[in-house]
Amino acid sequence: MPPIKSVRGVRDILPADLPLWNAAEDAGAQVARRFGYEEIRTPLLEHSELIERVGEDTDAVAKELYRFDDRGGRNLALRPEATAGVVRAYFEGLLNQGPQPSRLYLFGAMFRYDRPQKGRYRQFFQFNVEAIGSAAAGLDAEVIELAYGWLVDVGLADLRLELNSIGDGKCRPAYLEKLRAYYRPLKSQLHGDCQLRLETNPLRLLDCKVPQCQPFKAGAPRITDFLCDECAAHWAAVRRLLDAASIEYQHNPYLVRGLDYYTRTVFEFYPGGATGQQDALASGGRYDGLAEAEGWPSTPGVGFAGGLDRVTELMAAKRGEAPLRPPADVLVLPDGDLAVEASEVARICRTARSVAVDYEPKSLRAKMRSANKLGARWVVLLSAEDAARRVAQLREMTTGEQTEVPWDELPARITSA
Ligand code: AMP
Repeated sequence: MPPIKSVRGVRDILPADLPLWNAAEDAGAQVARRFGYEEIRTPLLEHSELIERVGEDTDAVAKELYRFDDRGGRNLALRPEATAGVVRAYFEGLLNQGPQPSRLYLFGAMFRYDRPQKGRYRQFFQFNVEAIGSAAAGLDAEVIELAYGWLVDVGLADLRLELNSIGDGKCRPAYLEKLRAYYRPLKSQLHGDCQLRLETNPLRLLDCKVPQCQPFKAGAPRITDFLCDECAAHWAAVRRLLDAASIEYQHNPYLVRGLDYYTRTVFEFYPGGATGQQDALASGGRYDGLAEAEGWPSTPGVGFAGGLDRVTELMAAKRGEAPLRPPADVLVLPDGDLAVEASEVARICRTARSVAVDYEPKSLRAKMRSANKLGARWVVLLSAEDAARRVAQLREMTTGEQTEVPWDELPARITSA
């Protein structure tokens, strides 16, 4: 029988990679807390309806949702993103009744039934930051500054920030009519999906990546030229705040979101110097219509999602091959059948350092060879004779220096060194 392998598009994060993941998550949590954000954890499972109601027409919902019936006949989904669940939790957890805005962050797995490829997985991880309950432009700039701070802290300071405003329910409909009017005469020259989008979701024409649709973008009307007074003031305020924070950005008029509940600010961080089609490191924006789309009272919010898979991949590339970090500082090598004694020595040494025991029924010579491979800093050699006297031979691996040490003195010896 062939061995059972992992699910397609779903991967393990192995111990050698975990230091990077922990560093990325620790840096995120630290910067979030510096900005006064609190951690929240929401379920991986949500009612499909929650995701579908807010996500109609996105690829994530149309093709990519992991959806199934549970044993009780409930139609459930593995969350494809966190914001819908965080907004639900904000109301169900009565955070809406506390001080506003609620500043929240979350780390967790997301699921999309996408075609797996390098950097794209069916289970992937995000760092989410959401500020819910305020429409102030200060918060748009704040979450952008937070995302920027996180990426800088993990060593990815070479960044490109793209920024746009997509207006709101007041000014967007009229703009969309202008966009349709511009594209209608060009319809036959657009690719199939874009021909459909022209009527259903014309904003998405602007972020189409298919080559045949590119030539028409430059002449398309820009939404930032048609914002209502409130959206224009918000757009100006966000840019002013970013300037004041010395955060550089590029206005990308083609940066859009396809859903009605997204309003005003949208932004994406890319690695600097990246050309061609690249995944964003983090993307976000304002979603003042989301709460209402979920059936809750209308409540503004803004946030972003950072892709941990992508960020850790770049961190690894930047750092090069990390030196192999030994899993334990000390390795206890019993010579013969001394499991009880060796585990007692290990227990004593663990008061000072990380310790592993080689319990294998191998010769001491073979154990020394493995110890060398593991790269432990000390080896504690234990013979039956030593054990009877409650002493052991402590060997410092770099110098080869070896001394007899009573068990109880081992912690002091390995601490002081
Ligand atoms: P999105 O929720 O699509 O705006 O993506 C936010 C972040 O999650 C981006 O930084 C993406 O790189 C990352 N991301 C989205 N989908 C995947 C995926 N299938 N695999 C790995 N990372 C992803």
